[in-house]
Amino acid sequence: MHTEYDYIMLGGGAAALMLAYAITQSNELKDKRLLIIDPVVKNQNDRTWCYWHASTTPFDHLAAKKWPQVSFKAPKFEAKLSTLPLHYYMLKGIDFYEFIQKKLQESGQVEFLQDRVSHTSEQNGYAQVHTQSQKQFSCAYCFDSRFQLSDFEGDERCISLLQHFKGYLIQTPHDVFDIECPTLFDFNIPQHNEVRFVYTLPLAPNKALIEFTIFSSALLPQMIDYDIALKSYIEENLKIDSYQILEKEKGVIPMSNKPITRKTGKYSLKIGTAAGMAKASTGYVFLRCWRDAQQITASLKKQNHPFQITPTAPRFNVYDSTIMNLMLTRGGQIQDYFTDLFSKNPTERLLRFLDDQTSLPEELLLMSTVPTRTFASSMTKILVNKI
Ligand SMILES: Cc1cc2nc3c(=O)[nH]c(=O)nc-3n(C[C@H](O)[C@H](O)[C@H](O)COP(=O)(O)OP(=O)(O)OC[C@H]3O[C@@H](n4cnc5c(N)ncnc54)[C@H](O)[C@@H]3O)c2cc1C
Repeated sequence: MHTEYDYIMLGGGAAALMLAYAITQSNELKDKRLLIIDPVVKNQNDRTWCYWHASTTPFDHLAAKKWPQVSFKAPKFEAKLSTLPLHYYMLKGIDFYEFIQKKLQESGQVEFLQDRVSHTSEQNGYAQVHTQSQKQFSCAYCFDSRFQLSDFEGDERCISLLQHFKGYLIQTPHDVFDIECPTLFDFNIPQHNEVRFVYTLPLAPNKALIEFTIFSSALLPQMIDYDIALKSYIEENLKIDSYQILEKEKGVIPMSNKPITRKTGKYSLKIGTAAGMAKASTGYVFLRCWRDAQQITASLKKQNHPFQITPTAPRFNVYDSTIMNLMLTRGGQIQDYFTDLFSKNPTERLLRFLDDQTSLPEELLLMSTVPTRTFASSMTKILVNKI
């Protein structure tokens, strides 16, 4: 193992692996040597990613499923909705990890170290990376994807929510699932004055991942509370009384509008969730990390540094904050806003809006379909308080 690298990834999750992949795929950066440091070896199916888009990413062929439609369910509206020209993708974590690790090994540019980064410093024109096992490395630039939930809290002017969820991959003795259509939102569960829904990703007529999700400011008191809600949904809403749980997954994603300083030193850039890539109003991260990895790689090629990256257009931050404020203050009514949005707009426009890909006229059309006074009052509060 060397002690000097061009780039070091502090953390080797989705964001770091995507960036390493983008760098190693670039002809201009073929001479660069990378080190990825993470205490966790990525050899488990620790998460399932969903994302949507109309173009292509190098990961689409790995998708366990890809759908041209989704279903939306709420007490006042239920429909199967075409997402075309967008597709909705479901990607298993392990398939992504195995694909990328193979590509990185084949490149001959990347080394992996199972260790924990303890701290970094900057000296003599280089970033110095120190690990828990007392190793020290230097590099031209380091990319930091380490984060804690507390990084996104602690500013009274900002809104910080959590997306917390638990899912079961279940198998039933009989065919019960419609494999042609996942359920993106099912709001037909007690809301408890929060945003609560279940989504279902069918893999086979008798196999699906069912995920109970909450957007709120605090986790449920006990882990068993998520299991109770999931089992109740499977038995009472889906009317499935016999099933086997094949896998479980759980997670907490920060949803916050707290400003994040990405450039933390002369030679250091935050990436991924740590850099605020989780969209504040939805928690979706995956595709945003890939777009960011492409921008950073382009900057490395053209500028020889990673910092020429375009931030999200500020108006999308205002929309996110407005929606988060509504989630915080009127959580139980969000299902009605979503019902309006899904029943009165083309789904592809709505999905592009939730991915910061709409134009201003399209955004005005979308906003005109929700209760305008409440939305405008929430937006005014955001703009006046500069949240
Ligand atoms: C179960 C689950 C389902 C999800 N589903 C979706 C989804 O459908 N769509 C979506 O967009 N997002 C989803 N997410 C969010 C998901 O976290 C992100 O998509 C993605 O993993 C973010 O990548 P990241 O690199 O920022 O963070 P991570 O993948 O969490 O990577 C951070 C890495 O840093 C490492 N690390 C931490 N501390 C140190 C240290 N001191 N030294 C070295 N390494 C360290 C960690 O071990 C970890 O590997 C889901 C998350 C979970 C948990």
